[in-house]
Amino acid sequence: MSVTPTVVVHGGAGFVAPERRPERERACAAAARMGLEAMREGGSALDAVTTAVAALEDDPLFNAGHGAALTYDGEVELDASLMDGGSLRSGAVAALPPFDHPIRIARAVLEEGEHVFYVAHGAARFAWDHGFAPAAPDALVTEGARARLAAALRDDGAKPWAGGTVGAVALDASGHLAAATSTGGTVAKRAGRVGDSPVIGAGTYADDKLGACSVTGDGEAALRQLTALLACLAVAGGELPEDAAKRVLEALEREFGGLAGLILLGPKGEVGVGFRTQTMSHAIAREGKGITTGH
Ligand code: ASP
Repeated sequence: MSVTPTVVVHGGAGFVAPERRPERERACAAAARMGLEAMREGGSALDAVTTAVAALEDDPLFNAGHGAALTYDGEVELDASLMDGGSLRSGAVAALPPFDHPIRIARAVLEEGEHVFYVAHGAARFAWDHGFAPAAPDALVTEGARARLAAALRDDGAKPWAGGTVGAVALDASGHLAAATSTGGTVAKRAGRVGDSPVIGAGTYADDKLGACSVTGDGEAALRQLTALLACLAVAGGELPEDAAKRVLEALEREFGGLAGLILLGPKGEVGVGFRTQTMSHAIAREGKGITTGH
C-alpha cells in the first residue's frame, strides 16, 4: 500500500481575532512542514508529531511550552502526551514544572516504556534523570500569559480558556500513524488541575488500524467523553474523518456541555478537521501536495 506522508497540526480551539490569524496559520504551516521534513529524513510519524509540536512549544503565540497559560498562583504547569499507532506505545506528563519541551519528555517516557504517565515532581525528576534541563522559573512566562491571568483573576468576564493548545497527527510512508498534544491548560486553573491533553484516549490517541487524533478545547468535557479515542473508533467504524470529527464534537457539546475542536487522520491519510469554537488554527501538509491552512 502506498500512502502519502501527511502531517496535520492545530494551534488550539478558541477565538482568535481576524488580524491575528495569519501569523498563527503561518506558524502551524511551518510546524507541519518541519514534521514532513522529519519524515523525509527517514523519521517516523512519531518523529513528525514530536518535531511539529516541539516547534509550536517554542512559539510564544501558543499556550504550550513558551507562552503557556498560568495557574491561579501564577505558576506554569505543563501537560503533554503522544502515542505511536504502530506499537500502541504512549507517553505522557502532566502538571510538569517549567521545561522547554514537554512533548520531548513525553517522548522519552514512551521510549523508556517502564511507565506511561508521570505527573508533577515525579515528571520533573524523570526529565532531569533523562538529561532535560529545567527552564529558568520565568523563562516560559510571557506578558500575554500574565495579562490573561490578571484578567481572569479580576473576573471581568475574561474566559479562563486560553486557547492556543497545540497538537499534531501524522501518517508516514510505512502507513504508521501518530498523535501528540501539548498545553499549559486553562488560565487560572487550580494547582494540580489536569485536563484532557495529556490523557491518552481523551486528548490524544493513535492506532494504525483506527486513526490518529489530537483534541483541544473544553478539557473537562473531553476527559469525560474520551474524545480522541471516540473519534478514532468512529473512523474505524466506517465514517469519514471529516464526518466523525463533526459528529463526535456535536455529541461532546450535547452530552457533556463542552466546546472543542480536533484533528483526525484515517489509516489511508484521510483528514478530518473540526471545531465547535469560533476558530481553531490548523495546517494540513501532504508530501508533494503543498500545505493548506485555515482557522
Ligand atoms: N484542552 C486543554 C485543557 O483543558 C485546553 C485547550 O485545548 O484549550 O487543558
